[in-house]
Amino acid sequence: MSSILNQELIEKIIKLCSIKSLYICFTCILRYSNFRHIFKVNDHNDLWSYCQNHLSNEILLNILKKIFTNDENKLCQSCLDLLNVEYMMIKVKEIADHVSTMFSIDEFQLHIYQPFIITLRHLYFSKLFELNPEDVITVKDVIKTFIIIPIEKAIQAQHSTKGNHVIVLNFDHHQSKIECESLMETCHRNVSSPKRFKSSSTINHAALFRLFETSNNRILELFELIPIKTICTLDVSVCREPIYIAGRYLKLSRNLSQTPWFVDDGNRFKSSVQEKIFSGINAYIKYNDIKFSSSGREDVDVRMLGTGRPFMIEIFNPQWSNNNNNNIIAKIKEYINQMHQDVKVRDLQFVSRNESQKLLKQGEQEKSKTYQAICCIDRSFTEADMIILNSVKDLVICQTTPIRVLHRRTLSDRHRTVHSISARPINVDELINPEWKEFLSQMFVISIVTEAGTYIKEFVHSDFGRTRPNISSLLGNCRADIISLDVLEVKLDWPPMIGD
Ligand SMILES: [Zn+2]
Repeated sequence: MSSILNQELIEKIIKLCSIKSLYICFTCILRYSNFRHIFKVNDHNDLWSYCQNHLSNEILLNILKKIFTNDENKLCQSCLDLLNVEYMMIKVKEIADHVSTMFSIDEFQLHIYQPFIITLRHLYFSKLFELNPEDVITVKDVIKTFIIIPIEKAIQAQHSTKGNHVIVLNFDHHQSKIECESLMETCHRNVSSPKRFKSSSTINHAALFRLFETSNNRILELFELIPIKTICTLDVSVCREPIYIAGRYLKLSRNLSQTPWFVDDGNRFKSSVQEKIFSGINAYIKYNDIKFSSSGREDVDVRMLGTGRPFMIEIFNPQWSNNNNNNIIAKIKEYINQMHQDVKVRDLQFVSRNESQKLLKQGEQEKSKTYQAICCIDRSFTEADMIILNSVKDLVICQTTPIRVLHRRTLSDRHRTVHSISARPINVDELINPEWKEFLSQMFVISIVTEAGTYIKEFVHSDFGRTRPNISSLLGNCRADIISLDVLEVKLDWPPMIGD
């Protein structure tokens, strides 16, 4: 594209506007003369000096004459003064005031919504100047170009398409609807047109494009723009992209469920791992909604030890006043670990959504788990028993849906692999209840590595023969039961270990 302004086109634009008695501003004249690179200068002052260097005096004078008319109340009939520098700077201040009272921002995205009347006029003037509207740089693009740096300075943050905060500028004009409807009516009455816009009464940017496309040049004769005397209104809002925090949790209690549940006919809320982790988030981050997910779960009476279970929290429209991400994560972790005796978190970190959910699910369904169980049989646990159990290697077991989960799972036989078992006698100090001391010789500890989805309790006590083989059958059909169960490891390399 040429770097020299098309003086002929500029003169034509000025002339056609005069004939129609339509005033358009300096920036719009440049916009329709269609040199996109001009608007890469990011600043009105630069734009002005650029034009001084690239336009002949005659042309500049001509434009200036057009702009500085006697009528001070003139409003650009194309951009409705959205591109007026003074207006823009007032709006920047409004945006900054709004943003700084609510948020502390590092990086932001900018979303601009313009009223349909701006699109209508973009199409109208393009047609008048015999330009392809798709080639003309839009009001929205110019606003974006000129407003970003002043906003960055005003709120001391960087614009980025990946910014977590989204500043939404919603421009509107009270005559937008009236003019669009009037245009549609004119077209329906006078222009023979394809069904597609006769049947549709909805106004949108695409429909306006179609109206202008199908009306050819008749629209310029048939339709007159409403003289606009007032500027657009602006509604500023700020929202945040959801954030994702991942980590691993340890559950040190045998009386705590992972997610909340109600007792006493739903009147009392029983505490949970999820609730205790949320307490740390609540202490530092405000939000509209929050969601917990994890790589599987353990039963209420099962502890989660070792390196913990991977989890992720989604926080919707989050707000916090602290800019330092690492610091806030450290504070949340410290809060949870100090406030709660039975839940601890580690490897807490910000993550991106894309990978996270897939990995969590994968961990739940595919990765092997390591458990530790205290078991008891109806006779003494011998050296020979230990050898039998320790020799188990990739043993495929068949588990008919356990009785305890039958109410929520369909009845079926599922095959799972017990990768290995490591058995040893129990120490006195490992007894949960000192009164069990007299059964010490009958008790033993197993560490067991299994495929995801294996029912460990049932593998030990056989679930009335529904799991085959089982510890009981492996040890020659003695009676076996499980006293306690801990998860030692959920094998998943996500989230990355931080080593804390
Ligand atoms: Zn304008």
